[in-house]
Amino acid sequence: MTINRDGHIHSPFCPHGSSDSFHNYIESCIKNGIKTITFTEHAPLPEGFTDPVPDKDSAMPLAQLDRYLRELNDLQSEYNNDISIIKGLEVDFIEGFEKNTEQFMNTYGPELEDCILSSHFIKINSEYICIDFSPEHFDRFVRLSGSPQKASELYYRTVLRSTRAPLGTYAPKRIGHMTLIRKFHRNYEYDFLDQNAIQAILMEVQSRGLELDANGAGTTKEKCLEPYPHPSVIQSAVQMGIPLVYGSDAHASSGLLAGSNDISALTGKQLRQ
Ligand SMILES: [Zn+2]
Ligand SMILES: [Zn+2]
Repeated sequence: MTINRDGHIHSPFCPHGSSDSFHNYIESCIKNGIKTITFTEHAPLPEGFTDPVPDKDSAMPLAQLDRYLRELNDLQSEYNNDISIIKGLEVDFIEGFEKNTEQFMNTYGPELEDCILSSHFIKINSEYICIDFSPEHFDRFVRLSGSPQKASELYYRTVLRSTRAPLGTYAPKRIGHMTLIRKFHRNYEYDFLDQNAIQAILMEVQSRGLELDANGAGTTKEKCLEPYPHPSVIQSAVQMGIPLVYGSDAHASSGLLAGSNDISALTGKQLRQ
């Protein structure tokens, strides 16, 4: 089965991505037979939250958001006959900033058509760590947690909270890369697959009518080499009838289609097209 939809693509507005243009991404998708795409740039971080990565480049600055949305409007018209372009954002769930995120969604939600809610910044003690930034940042997260198992518990607890967060009428409907904690798992003995916690998240996703981002980016990361969520979690989600949307999470046009064969084999007809 081929992939017809990619629901997780970054853009030239990503400060840590490539400078590939919207046209680069779109033309490449058309060439590969993809019919529907969502650009999900990292939403501006909430006011008062300090980006914990060294270059403070995790997300698009708020000052650029209007231009991002305007350019997408223009592209929708330009490519009207060739491909369906959906306006979205990858919104961060940040524990303690739920109110700000709700306000942000209330303001911009009416203009957005398809958003992802992702947990990259995990609160530990009184700081936040961007767990997917580097093996070193992740290792610090593990050490501060006390053990890989504790780190795993904390991560999944945060993802569970994200599914329950009251983010208002325009709350994102899709949970991003649910097992992102496995990005560097090959550096550890521990498997970072806390079955009970994963099951609790899947049940919450199911009962709230949310979707899962079936994200192929991990297949290209040398310490991961698998999609997010982990194949066993994708299988559980399929059995539970949870809608899955393929996402390349491409930060350059060369990253499109990442892991798409694995994911279409795992999901079959359950993949939303
Ligand atoms: Zn990114
Ligand atoms: Zn992400």
